[in-house]
Amino acid sequence: MNLGISGRWALVCAASKGLGKGCAAALVQEGVHVVITARGDAALQATAAELRALNPAVQVLAVAGDITTAEGRAAALAACPQVDILVNNAGGPPPGDFRDWDRDTWLKALDANMLTPIALMQAVIDPMATRGFGRIVNITSAAVKAPIDVLGLSNGARSGLTGFVAGVARQPRVANANVTINNLLPGPFDTDRLRATAAGAAAKAGKSIDEVLAQRRQANPSGRFGTAQEFGAYCAFLCSVHAGYITGQNLLLDGGAYPGTF
Ligand code: NAP
Repeated sequence: MNLGISGRWALVCAASKGLGKGCAAALVQEGVHVVITARGDAALQATAAELRALNPAVQVLAVAGDITTAEGRAAALAACPQVDILVNNAGGPPPGDFRDWDRDTWLKALDANMLTPIALMQAVIDPMATRGFGRIVNITSAAVKAPIDVLGLSNGARSGLTGFVAGVARQPRVANANVTINNLLPGPFDTDRLRATAAGAAAKAGKSIDEVLAQRRQANPSGRFGTAQEFGAYCAFLCSVHAGYITGQNLLLDGGAYPGTF
């Protein structure tokens, strides 16, 4: 299937590794020019080189910076000639006990997983509507649908973003201007983040990381973790010309882990 987005420009946030990188790779393979961001410049430049090798016909620009800061967002937006596609992503908040979280801890989580994607949407939606094409994908978490107790910061901050998106996606000059906004909700995907959380759980339980990973794979109906490539392919479809009638949705990619009928 030709996704019909060759020559478009995408800003893919937090994309030197993991799910963001998977999205950038899928878009690049469809002929989309990308601006990718991350804080660490070495991994970002390495990923940019990989993406250029995937499709030498597209432009890949790498902007190092913290996307949760105003400066980081301004630099990313300035590098992108026009944002036709926005993939919102940032690191997830740490696990813990809600009794330990003070106001600053909450503000950090809200900044990363709610206010940053909202600020970027604010910057790009009206120009997208004027051009009559826009695709916004927010990487959130399966925790929005089925909370994970130790990830209260994520459950809370991402639910705030989800509520905001539900309203704005349906507004005039958004939905009727061919600008779609959807949230992708990952279950367990094989990335550095998943391995880091498994390392924490292993240390706590006195098990090896491999044991914890094997148990988690078995606990999923698919018997495995998802791959960043699978995640990216779904994201690229949502960014395609064919997905203009899908908006305001929360789309779960979890190998069947969520047990509900709907
Ligand atoms: P990952 O493999 O750790 O990759 C995270 C990427 O984001 C890296 O490129 C990292 O680079 C970049 N990044 C982190 N904080 C950033 C910031 N403030 N500004 C700019 N770039 C930043 O993580 P992932 O598994 O792909 O997860 C992506 C998102 O999905 C996270 O919010 C995570 O909580 C959520 N999620 C993941 C899973 C899963 O199973 N993997 C499940 C549910 C939800 P730098 O560190 O160099 O900045």
